[in-house]
Amino acid sequence: MPTNVYHSQSEKDEKDNSDHRGFELELLSDELLDAMQTGIIFADTDGIIRRINTPALEDLRITGNIVGKNVKDVLKVSNQDKNILPGLLDQLKEGSVNKVELPENTFIETYQKSAHLFVQGQLTRLSGKKSEIVFVFRNVVNEMIRDFMLKMALSSTKIFPWFYDMDRNVMVIDERYFAYTGIPTKDYTMTLEEFSGRLHPEDQPVMAHAFEQQLTGTHYPYPVSFRLLRGDGSWEWFEGQSTYLGQIDGVPYRVVGICMSTQAHKDIESALIAARNKAEQSDRLKSAFLANMSHEIRTPLNAIVGFSNLLTGGEVAVASEEAQTYVNLINTNCNQLLTLISDILDLSRIESETMEYSYSEFSLNSFLTEVYQVHTLTMPQDIDFGLLLPPKGICMVTDPIRLRQIMDNLLTNAEKFTSRGYIHLGYKISEDTKEVELFVEDTGRGIPSDQCDKIFERFYKVDSFVQGAGLGLSICKTIVEQMSGRILVSSRLEKGSRFSVWLPIKTSA
Ligand code: ADP
Repeated sequence: MPTNVYHSQSEKDEKDNSDHRGFELELLSDELLDAMQTGIIFADTDGIIRRINTPALEDLRITGNIVGKNVKDVLKVSNQDKNILPGLLDQLKEGSVNKVELPENTFIETYQKSAHLFVQGQLTRLSGKKSEIVFVFRNVVNEMIRDFMLKMALSSTKIFPWFYDMDRNVMVIDERYFAYTGIPTKDYTMTLEEFSGRLHPEDQPVMAHAFEQQLTGTHYPYPVSFRLLRGDGSWEWFEGQSTYLGQIDGVPYRVVGICMSTQAHKDIESALIAARNKAEQSDRLKSAFLANMSHEIRTPLNAIVGFSNLLTGGEVAVASEEAQTYVNLINTNCNQLLTLISDILDLSRIESETMEYSYSEFSLNSFLTEVYQVHTLTMPQDIDFGLLLPPKGICMVTDPIRLRQIMDNLLTNAEKFTSRGYIHLGYKISEDTKEVELFVEDTGRGIPSDQCDKIFERFYKVDSFVQGAGLGLSICKTIVEQMSGRILVSSRLEKGSRFSVWLPIKTSA
């Protein structure tokens, strides 16, 4: 019987295939198969092993000959606690697919328990060979460990790796970067334009220069600080650094880099700068304080001592009218000293943050009427002192003692700097009825416009010859701000000033 007689076309195919198979498999030399860095197992779709290369044997730590055995009896390919090998072989056998990739986190375990390794790989049906497959796998344990260690290390930092994809012209950035910054993304990439659009305008030139250098093959190893616009619209400080891997025709093969959030450092830096500035300011204040105080204390004290001596000296008789003048002067100077001492006490309470506030609800009309009445007693005759209250008064919650202190201070200043015209005390309610403006307006000497802010600083006086330590307004400002308000001044030289204290209207209801 001639050897090439077939009973059907399928019988012929089968014969062709098996002839062809033996031929092809033999054609592949051991050297070639072993030179591959991957494990390779040839088998039929039932799983019978035809050939296996040395890397596979070594990775699986198999010593004996396993050709002819069923791969399903030699090893398990597990994913999510299930042996997926029989299913994969069935798929290939049915012919529904020609190739199946091993899913992520797949590991191979031998029944001999000789090996247990994480792998990447695939099973492919050899073309033209319906019943033959090749199972290729790569041991990725070391890669996984490295990857895991890197991920673990990075996860506790705000460092985000990236690389520049020269083919697609995009930066491919660690997905944590997008989660952290809140920048929307579809595929964890950004074009240079998109990235640059998120940089603070002041930081764009240096970053553009760094990228230009790096992408054209001039090594730029220096860190670049930049502010990045986060997804929520806030700015955050980052530092970026990159390098490139290899060059082809002068063009870097790949630019890789990291960017790291430096916001926490910047915050610490600003806190330290603020602390240093505060310490320097305290030092300056101390010197200014000592310089001012010796003068401010001596002047009224000298007056008090001098006039008291005159009154009690007895050598020259003092007329009763003259005596009254001396007593008045002693009184005025005592008051000045008292004001000074209470300002110094307030200043030290502010510094040590021990100033106490006691909030209560009261009628603003009654409150200002009382302030007005007390100041009417000391107001010079030729000043038109007026109280301007809205017809429908309000009640509000704030600290009445501190508010009194502020209004007294503003009125005392107005009296001190106004020699004609009027001084008006009053309040107005804002249109949205959320705030109240308490004001003291005068037609006094006014304040130069470039000094309107400075008068709220400690020890600042427009005219150093005028009595006063220059502390009142700075204390007022601190108190008003503590009460969630603000103090403002508008003034015209030689025309007058208006001091406004804006406070939120809070009621106890
Ligand atoms: P002092 O207690 O010495 O008056 P303040 O802090 O209250 O200090 O005021 C600081 C400076 O602000 C004053 O020395 C004065 O130059 C200026 N100033 C305050 N109020 C008025 C005002 N109503 N008119 C003109 N200048 C004023």
